[in-house]
Amino acid sequence: MFQNRRLIIATKHKKEKVIAPLLESAFGVKCFTDQSFDTDSFGSFSGEIERTHGPLETARQKCLAAMKKNNCDLGIASEGSFGPHPSVFLINADDEFMIFIDKKNNIEVIARELSPSTNFNGKTVSSKKDLIEFADKVDFPTHGLILRPSKDDNSEVYKGIIDEEFLKNQFESLKSKYGKAYVETDMRAMYNPTRMQVIEQLTKKLVDQINSKCPECEMPGFTVSEVIKGLKCSLCGQPTNSTLSFIYLCKHCEFKKEQLYPHQKTTEDPMYCDFCNP
Ligand SMILES: [Zn+2]
Ligand SMILES: [Zn+2]
Repeated sequence: MFQNRRLIIATKHKKEKVIAPLLESAFGVKCFTDQSFDTDSFGSFSGEIERTHGPLETARQKCLAAMKKNNCDLGIASEGSFGPHPSVFLINADDEFMIFIDKKNNIEVIARELSPSTNFNGKTVSSKKDLIEFADKVDFPTHGLILRPSKDDNSEVYKGIIDEEFLKNQFESLKSKYGKAYVETDMRAMYNPTRMQVIEQLTKKLVDQINSKCPECEMPGFTVSEVIKGLKCSLCGQPTNSTLSFIYLCKHCEFKKEQLYPHQKTTEDPMYCDFCNP
């Protein structure tokens, strides 16, 4: 279905380095990028351009725009968000979406990776010592940094800093004007190998999702559309909040299948039961 077709990767942050080899070997596609396509117009991490949609919709818009501009009916885009982990206390997370669109066959497959593996961080610093301490903590210089006068000030922004002398000099210059500076991690994939690894994991997940075919119509992308809670407590038999089943849905023929006990567990431990352990 995909063999020898051109596939555009909508990125100008070198994500093709990890995405292209996996897709080319899995599907026989020919990946390319368009360096003149400005993905930052859909929102940038450094805050100059606000993202107007959620991350998944942003990825979709970016993908469709790149496909249209390059007259290509096969495309991939991804979009990451960074912030406090939604379920683990006091750590940050990298929440990545990736979308695969095949206009010719009317296929759209989505994968998501919520990873605690990120150096995402930012801090106001007023001394060189604090600056270097922060830089060491976030794996500079293998990971890039951004400097600006203060957290929300875009008037003077230095991005993609990977040189220590340059970092110190720009800091001194900001400090002499503003008395301090705001230093933060540059989350663009080419300046952040940790994020690049998460994108690689996500691509593998996407490949698996595409390879999952509908048992009825054999179209790719037969994936989980719903998670049903209610796994029974092993002691009292009441339903818990744990996962009972996954619902797989084919977006083409609407064939649905329920997979019971997807985590290989037929009952839940009473410690997670609201009746036995309220
Ligand atoms: Zn189907
Ligand atoms: Zn119970």
